[in-house]
Amino acid sequence: MSDWLEVVRQVEPLEDVALDAPLVKQMARRANNAGPSRINFYTPTFKAYASSEISGCGKTAWPAVSITGGDCKLACDHCKAKILEPMIPAHTPQDLWRVVHEQIDLGAQGMLLTGGSNHRNEVEYAPYYATIRRIKEIFPAFKIALHTALVDLDIARRMEDAGIDVAMMDVIGAQDTITQVYHLRRSVDDFERSLEYLVATEMKIVPHIVLGLHYGHFLGEWHALDIVKRHRPDALVLVVVMPHYAPQDRPFATPDAHEVGHFFLDASAAMIDTPLLLGCARPAGRVKSQIDAYAVMAGLNGIAHPADGMVELAARLGREVRVTPACCSIAVGDEVMAVDAKDAGLQVDVQKVIEFERARRRPLDIKIVRAEELAR
Ligand code: SF4
Repeated sequence: MSDWLEVVRQVEPLEDVALDAPLVKQMARRANNAGPSRINFYTPTFKAYASSEISGCGKTAWPAVSITGGDCKLACDHCKAKILEPMIPAHTPQDLWRVVHEQIDLGAQGMLLTGGSNHRNEVEYAPYYATIRRIKEIFPAFKIALHTALVDLDIARRMEDAGIDVAMMDVIGAQDTITQVYHLRRSVDDFERSLEYLVATEMKIVPHIVLGLHYGHFLGEWHALDIVKRHRPDALVLVVVMPHYAPQDRPFATPDAHEVGHFFLDASAAMIDTPLLLGCARPAGRVKSQIDAYAVMAGLNGIAHPADGMVELAARLGREVRVTPACCSIAVGDEVMAVDAKDAGLQVDVQKVIEFERARRRPLDIKIVRAEELAR
């Protein structure tokens, strides 16, 4: 078993990134026992390696649509509905019908459908089900990933009947987080029951756990992992809270990268047969390099928007590396569909990627671009 810290040091962008040595050792030991596994990176950076069919931008392929536009009654402390703002609004079923046609004309293969919550953390999709059903009848290949929020059994079945392909929900494992961060009078059991109702359907179920959701600190994450493990969904997406939306009077700390790493290791051990993905939401900068290095070493199956050096690190650790050139920051549905497909992503020539990454970082490799070229 090679010394993984030594391997990390060989990757130029990770030279000065501080990692927890005992944790890295545990990760190496686990990988040694589990054997080699594939990892898929979702990034626009490697477009150079893409074939013409899949070089399209993920944003066009998987637009995000909100049935409430930028409105959300909950206004949780970590989000304040900011996540909805850049999405395409579809305030009525007629709007949704039109938006889907427009997006298919632009090359969309599917969409993420979401909306702001009411005070009970439900998104009110009821008026839209008939339209979704018609969309799926006319465009069966157009995939719809729905952010469900909390549901009862009847709502879960209506989503299934409408033809939703992928259902996603955040699982929260601490009552204090539900009450304080989400301002919500619902229980941890309500989250578990929603997941239970969703997995009872034929939809693909992809819960999310937001790490550091309690003002940047871990509180209910391990309990959320237990809940997810009990219900055996199709994939689990982990994201790390982004503190910059938080209001000044209720600030969020940046989650501790080493604690995130510990969680990755536990999640990867708990979800052995379930694809485990790191979604694109996580803090930027040095902490992102730490988090992503831990994700690669803990054996996660997919990473959206990896930090510099991750492809090289995965290759050096002997993982089979694939790259999907998608740039959309919210297209988790795409990740799930891609992981599901046997030929997901491009199998890349790792040596070429390493050379490509190095050339990109070389300071002298600056191409002078004229203003008129930039405008093109
Ligand atoms: S319910 Fe969702 S969209 Fe609304 S504020 Fe909370 S996290 Fe943001």
